[in-house]
Amino acid sequence: MPFRLSRRWQLRQLTAAFSLILLVACAEHPTAADALPIAPVQPAPVLVQPTPSADIVVQPQQTFAEWQASFRQQALQAGVSPSLFDRAFAGITPDMDVIKADRSQPEFSRPVWEYLDGALSPLRVRNGKALLAQNSELLSRIEQRYGVERNVLVSVWGMESNFGQFQGNKSVIRSLATLAYEGRRPAFAQAQLLAALKILQNGDIAPEAMRGSWAGAMGQTQFIPTTYDTHAVDFDGDGRRDIWNSSADALASTAHYLQSSGWKRGEPWGFEVELAPGFDYWLADGTQRKTVAEWLHLGLKLPAGARVPAGSEQLSAALILPAGYRGPAFLVLDNFRAILKYNNSSSYALAVSLLNERFDGAGYIRGAWPKDDLPLSRSERIELQDRLNATGHEAGTADGIIGANTRKAIRNAQQTLGWPADGYPTRKLLDSLRAR
Ligand code: CA
Repeated sequence: MPFRLSRRWQLRQLTAAFSLILLVACAEHPTAADALPIAPVQPAPVLVQPTPSADIVVQPQQTFAEWQASFRQQALQAGVSPSLFDRAFAGITPDMDVIKADRSQPEFSRPVWEYLDGALSPLRVRNGKALLAQNSELLSRIEQRYGVERNVLVSVWGMESNFGQFQGNKSVIRSLATLAYEGRRPAFAQAQLLAALKILQNGDIAPEAMRGSWAGAMGQTQFIPTTYDTHAVDFDGDGRRDIWNSSADALASTAHYLQSSGWKRGEPWGFEVELAPGFDYWLADGTQRKTVAEWLHLGLKLPAGARVPAGSEQLSAALILPAGYRGPAFLVLDNFRAILKYNNSSSYALAVSLLNERFDGAGYIRGAWPKDDLPLSRSERIELQDRLNATGHEAGTADGIIGANTRKAIRNAQQTLGWPADGYPTRKLLDSLRAR
């Protein structure tokens, strides 16, 4: 999903736990709670643009028919033929389910370990292994053409659409028209809608067959239309870029996207590490980059029996703690960042990375998750932000989204208390601030 409209479009920072639950047919998405520094909150659609604010509800100033007439003019000016436009919009009305999903802000989020359990289910691993075997020759050709390894392609395929099984069954035109008419990011939706019309005009897919998620993420790759426009490829040579029905096109399109996102063939995504007591947790913010060798000098260790991937000592890495200092820690390299371009959520990137290792019998985490430490609810996150602000730790707008400012405020508060400053929002910290 590079760019699903809503997954990506929306959400990057904006939403916190949001569409998770409501995503139609999408693979599991992380929640606000597992937000790591790298990709702070969200189930982001593949390739969604950053959004300004979570709470804007646009009240249309015109009827849908008026909006449609005005948009039709724009589409025609952009080169869409009148007959194609009218065919695509035949019988289209706003979809209330899409509006509901777009505005939803779930109160509760799934812990990262539950998200990973779902993403890395034994069934998914088994299906992925079978598909790797069945598509071996195709995957060799894709690897050769794009320089992206087969395991990560099949892993993304599994995460995005459960290997093509869950692509979303909503009319992409109707969903995007609804969001362009009264969604929270109408300009973004309108650009996606225009791109979708051009896809139809190119003849890649028939209007009735252009199905996707409520946010407009389409096909086995869950690309939003603009990502499709730039990265979908016709790999099976039938003249159409068919990410819905052709797994060859879908896998090659994913490879093309990862290649463009900086994927480096032969490099690891990262690996699990252990932190010594007294480690400076300010370094674990997902953005501070050092070579693997430098990180090891700072006292990072590997789990018993594990080794640093060959040749990675001089590669640039960041340290992430998906559930704070009490949980597992990972050094993540450039390929992890390439996966984040597909979906800007570190939980998602971790799931893709571990799944691709599971296909080879590895990818098991050694550290224990702090399962007694459930993610704060949205209202608790807002309260935490309010209390941080009230105690002089500037957390920014109390919107329930744990972004960079809030994380920094949490670290400051933790430091004041003499606790490990991991920037992770916990109930213990909230209780401590309540007791002040
Ligand atoms: Ca094709």
